[in-house]
Amino acid sequence: MESAVLPTYARAPLSFERGEGAYLFDEDGRRYLDFGAGIAVCALGHAHPHLVAALTEQGSKLWHNSNVFQIPGQEKLARRLTERCALDAAFFTNSGVEALECAFKIARRYQYEQGRPERYRILTFDGAFHGRTLAGIAAGGQDKLLKGFGPKVDGFDQSPFGDLAAAKAAIGPETAAILVEPIQGEGGIRVADPAFLKGLRALCDEHDLLLMYDEVQCGMGRTGKLFAHEWSGAAPDVMALAKGIGGGFPLGACLAVEKAAKVMTPGTHGTTYGGNPLAMAVGNAVLDVMLADGFLETVERRANHLRQQLSGLVDRHPTILEELRGQGLMLGLKCRVPNGDLVTALREHGMLAIPGGDNVVRLIPPLIINESHIAEALETLDEACRELEG
Ligand SMILES: *Cc1c(COP(=O)(O)O)cnc(C)c1O
Repeated sequence: MESAVLPTYARAPLSFERGEGAYLFDEDGRRYLDFGAGIAVCALGHAHPHLVAALTEQGSKLWHNSNVFQIPGQEKLARRLTERCALDAAFFTNSGVEALECAFKIARRYQYEQGRPERYRILTFDGAFHGRTLAGIAAGGQDKLLKGFGPKVDGFDQSPFGDLAAAKAAIGPETAAILVEPIQGEGGIRVADPAFLKGLRALCDEHDLLLMYDEVQCGMGRTGKLFAHEWSGAAPDVMALAKGIGGGFPLGACLAVEKAAKVMTPGTHGTTYGGNPLAMAVGNAVLDVMLADGFLETVERRANHLRQQLSGLVDRHPTILEELRGQGLMLGLKCRVPNGDLVTALREHGMLAIPGGDNVVRLIPPLIINESHIAEALETLDEACRELEG
């Protein structure tokens, strides 16, 4: 084979040697403004000194230990996360899809423990993305991800995103839980209306279903609040986190409210690596920065400024851009040209962005961007759009 790596990605012809804050440097030393952040993962930018210090300090003490022992870093990180939301306990994983797998198992086991084992189905929404395992692609329900990987894992139903009446109608005697992204990422930066989330909360209360949020992409400060659902006032029973939570170290978490957490008794679930001391040192260091005074407020302020600038951009280039979407630093430019063309043009001008569903270009920069990064991004976006107007 041409490459010894499985050909699952259409990769851009570019590789990076190092990163610093909001910038990446390729092997020729060329600098790129990184508005992709490894798909919303490098929330504190590259080589953040506090994270580097935490990683190297823990790296010289203890990397890994089994979950058959106490891991104090887990207690600390779980306490700090659950204190910031209405949830009570956390299970740590290495990825987003594993956090979701834990959520799926909690949903089934919760209903089982209530004496309703027939309730095992999870309602999800059009345009959703819940990872790439067999259950993850069944939950996401997208044909292009499921094709050729049948039979589809049983137990997932889908309903239109944002349509409360349809969700209500889709709940049946076998429904165990509802799973939703407060802001769809891969689906094209689609923000759920707060009234939709509140409505789902009420439906779950009415039928004793678990309301589960996938905040793998939209959580961890990305919207200017630690969790995206805080904007809606509708609290979940279960929440999956990953991406930004480790700032680039592979880490995820599934948080649950006490009544759901307590069904996961010894032996019901496990992981070898999840929550190991190295991951916990980095996760706690990420939170040190995110929870420091003023950090999230600054994210919100920068995001408002960026949004304002981007709506001007959309007005200036009506044949290239259709609309601006999103919240906080999770923004999308819906394009009138193929989104890949804009991503490529940006890259050629030294800026990285990520394509998304619905012909959207995602702008998901590190949360540490400042006004000069925003000005540089706008200049580059203007240049790229002008070029495409050609
Ligand atoms: C990235 C993502 C996932 C999958 O996370 P992995 O770490 O790739 O398994 C799941 N849900 C959402 C919303 C995501 O953005």
